[in-house]
Amino acid sequence: MIETAQVMVVTPHPDDAEFGAAGTVARWVREGKSIVYVVCSSGDKGTSDRNMNPEELARIREQEQLAAAKVLGVKDVVFLHYTDQALEDTPEFRKDIVRQIRRYQPEIIVAADPYRRYLWHRDHRIAGQVTLDAVFPYARDHLAYPDLLEEGLEPHRVREVWLWATEDPNHRSDITDTFDIKLAALRCHKSQVGDFPGLEQWLRRRARDMAKGENFELAEAFHRVEIWW
Ligand SMILES: [Zn+2]
Repeated sequence: MIETAQVMVVTPHPDDAEFGAAGTVARWVREGKSIVYVVCSSGDKGTSDRNMNPEELARIREQEQLAAAKVLGVKDVVFLHYTDQALEDTPEFRKDIVRQIRRYQPEIIVAADPYRRYLWHRDHRIAGQVTLDAVFPYARDHLAYPDLLEEGLEPHRVREVWLWATEDPNHRSDITDTFDIKLAALRCHKSQVGDFPGLEQWLRRRARDMAKGENFELAEAFHRVEIWW
């Protein structure tokens, strides 16, 4: 039996989705939507601590991601275990994303916008691009990855993609009522934000900026793509 989710969040590393989309995720959970996270890399290079080894860091960050998912009410977290700072646009990586799309059959996919023009974490650029490619055409077409059909994973049409960290926002999601949950989820990533003074103020100011021109106070901004075919 295939267990579906209405929303799939593809995050390059633990914590990116919390920065980009956790307020929206929390709102969807309140509305009764089921959410799955797909975590591409476990972030094994994300430290300035010279005494930390990559395996231990990955283990810690996976626990932090699971804790954040619990705070948000995310029902499932899939770790793909790619090496941090080593994501590449390969058929294998694309197929791993396609497999999860076909498995969970989400209506909405949330990912990092790959199209920031200048400095952008390479893993975020690659993960965003590979996710868009996986949505269309690879998840949709039965002749793409025919072996997935043999695994019982039928083609699936995603209806919308929401991209966070975009330079070209066309949708602002109201997170005024779920900002505190976003903050609590973000604080679960202790190895990343533990010594970040003024996290709440910084996050609130950013959310307020994203809500400019809207009739609500706090927002997350996305480039939202609706898929009609
Ligand atoms: Zn990241």
